[in-house]
Amino acid sequence: MNILLVEDDAPLARGLQRALRHEGFSVNHVDCGREAINSVASTLPDMVILDLGLPDMDGMAVLKQLRNNGHKLPVLILTAREGLNDTVTALDGGADDYLSKPFEMDELLARLRVLTRRLGTSQSSRIAQGAVTLDTASHAVCVGDSDVSCSRREYMLLKALMENTGRIQTREALESKLYGWGEEVASNTIEVHISHLRKKLPAGFIQTVRGVGYTINSDASNNSKTTKQKSPH
Ligand code: CA
Repeated sequence: MNILLVEDDAPLARGLQRALRHEGFSVNHVDCGREAINSVASTLPDMVILDLGLPDMDGMAVLKQLRNNGHKLPVLILTAREGLNDTVTALDGGADDYLSKPFEMDELLARLRVLTRRLGTSQSSRIAQGAVTLDTASHAVCVGDSDVSCSRREYMLLKALMENTGRIQTREALESKLYGWGEEVASNTIEVHISHLRKKLPAGFIQTVRGVGYTINSDASNNSKTTKQKSPH
């Protein structure tokens, strides 16, 4: 799940990025409205967190521009402004939700989970495929009745694959879901995570599509032969 964070308050933006990444989101951050519009046009995120008070333009104008450009992605507004009028204006302007500053991180994460569920890819917080179940609220991964311990990146990778069961995910697409801009990604990073995940999942669950990427094999998932191995994380 890729979030574009539009926030000009540098310390707040850093804190948000850290918390969101810890929750398993990949985050790209920009600090002005013009960059936000360009960024959505070049790399469509799954969601936008949009501050209203930006240095170059009003957040509401950014939202209007995004909607005018035909982008229907969920937008959560952050506002320092008090009062019902601004809230109504934001929601009428196409925002999906809003939070008034200051807010608790837990509250933001709860709102994002609601928006995530609204995104057709995951109608509930549980994604099940054969013996494998992934809970996007608790970040738990189970094979049958057993909990499987996954690192944060392994979890994000498995989620990206399971949200697209039956569709091939290219290595580039997976990298962009796991890492934000400017993060160093070694050329074999995805392969390494996949190899770790395979040791924890039913044999044949993740299939390699040679030269292209990976996909979940929905037929192999009832195979209960798993290698029990604790993650070092
Ligand atoms: Ca601001």
